[in-house]
Amino acid sequence: MMEETSKELPSEELGAGRQTYRMLVVDDDMRICRFVSRVAKNLGVDATLVSDSRDVIDADSRLRPDLIMLDLSMPGLDGVEVLRSLAGARCMAVICLFSGADLEVIDGAVQLGRALGLRMASPLPKPLNVGKITDVIIAHKGECEGVEPTARDLEDAIREGRIRPHYQPKIELSSGRMVGVEALARWEDEKVGFIPPSIFIGLAEEAGLIDSLTACITQRAFKEVVGLEGGGRKLGLALNLSPLLLTDVRYPDRVLDWARAEGVSPDRVTLEITENEALKDRSRCLDTLVRFRLMGFHLSVDDFGTGFSSLAHLYALPFEEIKIDRTFVADLGRNEGAETIVKAIVALGRGLGQAVVAEGVEDAVTARLLGQLGCDVAQGYYFCRPQELEGLRSFIGKDGPWPPSASTLAASSSSAEPDEGEPGRGSAPVIEDQPAIRYLQRLWHQLDPARRTGPALSR
Ligand code: C2E
Ligand code: CA
Ligand code: CA
Repeated sequence: MMEETSKELPSEELGAGRQTYRMLVVDDDMRICRFVSRVAKNLGVDATLVSDSRDVIDADSRLRPDLIMLDLSMPGLDGVEVLRSLAGARCMAVICLFSGADLEVIDGAVQLGRALGLRMASPLPKPLNVGKITDVIIAHKGECEGVEPTARDLEDAIREGRIRPHYQPKIELSSGRMVGVEALARWEDEKVGFIPPSIFIGLAEEAGLIDSLTACITQRAFKEVVGLEGGGRKLGLALNLSPLLLTDVRYPDRVLDWARAEGVSPDRVTLEITENEALKDRSRCLDTLVRFRLMGFHLSVDDFGTGFSSLAHLYALPFEEIKIDRTFVADLGRNEGAETIVKAIVALGRGLGQAVVAEGVEDAVTARLLGQLGCDVAQGYYFCRPQELEGLRSFIGKDGPWPPSASTLAASSSSAEPDEGEPGRGSAPVIEDQPAIRYLQRLWHQLDPARRTGPALSR
């Protein structure tokens, strides 16, 4: 049974060349469908809600959605069967699974979808919240509606300094002190809109532009962060480094030159490296990594626990910090497997004398649990979203509730579940990421005034 459509679609809108971005939400629990639909509506997106999974194929062929959010566990036809049917129907939508099932079950379903040729997005563990849903919609809508950026667009943006670092604070869990920031590249462009790093970093790597992109982010970050202090101490700066750059053994000299030019001491700088195929040439990368260490830079292995990171790399390469991938962090407290993995990574870090950092901390309960499990440092939306320098400065001035007090924890855990009525009271999603805010505001203003049923998005 097709339950609800947040907007009835005139049939002519369904033809080729249509502009409207549409999504389909499939869950047997109508409360969840409505919750997702309200978040989508605040972002100017029409959602069609389907509570009976047998109706999905029909809805897909009639509506041709851009995004399908699909519950994995449903009575009747389950999510896996739906994926098979969607593949058979040559579904073109991006599919985001959400589920309360174990991580390995969800990951298995994502792999299956990919093997079937479907466009699978990163899945969302339940319970859903406004932030998670907003992220999926913004990231995908940006990808889908923006003019696909070309290598030329990227080259121009880098040359003209339109790709800039934002900064996300890193908090030491034992003291609650801010100890540093991670620089994350942001590209917001009049021509192509807000482009997520998941798109342009890959493009930069493919187009041979990762070198100039990294130069632009690194030099600017050094300049902006050099004077920043927290609690009377200079803040650390974490930079993301593509493993492709490690094949150039002279690369550390360049980073050192940029650091010296701005007066940044290398021991304030951590280079976060996500493992990929490039690290397979271990001897060459080892040269470069050792040179970085000799110069005083710190090295961190990013996204630890995902497919690409291997224990052998941790053992053979001179890393000093492990960054637990946010998929495990997101499931802490809800999934025993995630807790076991985090404990094991902390034990591994301790054993190897490496610091352990958790990313993607979205609530107080997770922050506290990570502290109890022995994790050293954490970052995530719970503390602060990535900010421009100005926003970061005002965050440094604040006294955050970390470690979180018992009352913060109680408030946070009671608001973690999507609650019928709560998010739907028209509250706009809280997004402090400046480009994301501007993007949402733009969407808001593009809306037909008659459809602006929620509050305007503002900071
Ligand atoms: P990453 O290094 O793992 O960065 C963490 C990502 O998690 C960032 O996504 C950040 O915005 C997001 N994040 C932070 N806290 C939370 C949270 O509480 N919940 C959730 N759901 N997400 C959170 P972002 O900025 O989209 O960057 C994606 C990836 O792009 C980064 O992943 C990094 O691998 C790459 N990247 C970003 N900037 C650069 C850069 O300058 N150079 C290179 N080589 N890669 C970069
Ligand atoms: Ca990182
Ligand atoms: Ca990561």
